[in-house]
Amino acid sequence: MREPLLTGAAPRSETARDLRIRNERRLLFKLREQPAMTRAEIAATLGMTPMAAGRIASRLLARGLLVEAPLALKGPGRPGSTLSLSDDWMGVGIDIRAHQSTVSCVNPRGQELLRLDAGTPHVGDPQRTINELVPVVREAIAQGGREVSGIGVGLAAALDDDYLHVTHSAYLDWHHVPFKKLLGEQLPYPIALKNIAECAILANSEQIGPASYRLLMHVQIGVGLGIALTQSRDVLNTLAVGGNMGHVFLGDSRRLCNCGRSGCVDTMVGFSAFSAPGRAHGVSGNWSRMDSTTRQILADARRGESWAVSCIQQLQEDLARVITVFTTINGPDRVTLGGYPRMLDDEFFAGLDEKVSANLRTPSPIVHTDIADRASAIGAGLLGLSLVRA
Ligand SMILES: [Zn+2]
Repeated sequence: MREPLLTGAAPRSETARDLRIRNERRLLFKLREQPAMTRAEIAATLGMTPMAAGRIASRLLARGLLVEAPLALKGPGRPGSTLSLSDDWMGVGIDIRAHQSTVSCVNPRGQELLRLDAGTPHVGDPQRTINELVPVVREAIAQGGREVSGIGVGLAAALDDDYLHVTHSAYLDWHHVPFKKLLGEQLPYPIALKNIAECAILANSEQIGPASYRLLMHVQIGVGLGIALTQSRDVLNTLAVGGNMGHVFLGDSRRLCNCGRSGCVDTMVGFSAFSAPGRAHGVSGNWSRMDSTTRQILADARRGESWAVSCIQQLQEDLARVITVFTTINGPDRVTLGGYPRMLDDEFFAGLDEKVSANLRTPSPIVHTDIADRASAIGAGLLGLSLVRA
């Protein structure tokens, strides 16, 4: 891969905190394959002293991510114990997209236990949106039936550096909203906020494994485009770079963006551009739902409707261009994709990989994970699981 023009995550030396987080992740990842390990096995796996391994285990036990069980006595000496992933705790993830919100409960294995539809966020009215979300979150917690370590929230919005406020969300028309405080007033749990692309990258990085990439880039496409980056060694330290990326001048200069300029990436691959031919052809359906509309357009394309075929071909062409440009700029070695294009089929992704590969003149860096478009909701749940309950 060529040297990136500008790297979003600048190289720096690994700190003690980076190392701790990396070792925690390696252990949790290992315990998904191997259900129970002793502290001595953990030390051997992580290549560290038993004392250091014991400290990592204690922290994960305190967060409710691990449980300890006595080991059957085999010979003389002190009976040991094994550690496994807990099934007693869960993280709650709230995924707030411009068109639709969902609430998920996620266990320490990264599996989604349940998912509830939480309606559509209100444009210009974050408080009403929160008031409608809260009963759905309480219902999810009741149905999940496990202790809650925390609530993670993924927002289709730009957040402040401390992840407390929504600074702005162009499509929701929310500005300077103290979202964490407002939600915390009704839900007495630890709460953390991130952008939806950042939540998706948390879940995707756990899916593909911390050892399988150096720099991961996630491209989230809904009404607009969001991008997040993370390094293998410190997945919680994600970087949302989407705010500006969606308004890079790469598209048709005649198309006006809601930011006031024209030719933005958002007007090229955003849902409005993709679905416009469907509206023009009078396709019936629920236009407020990106998933059902996208599936409808795919079904029409399979029936040979030429407008639908060209709609999907155009998206493939434009998306390949967008992924090529942002891969060149940011220099990731792996790329994941979320949002409405995830509703399309294997044929679409095979063609996309081919085009990106041809543009970059390298094998396609796109990884297709099993969790597909559930990544942002699952990642919000994992964010909830990363919180320590006081
Ligand atoms: Zn724009």
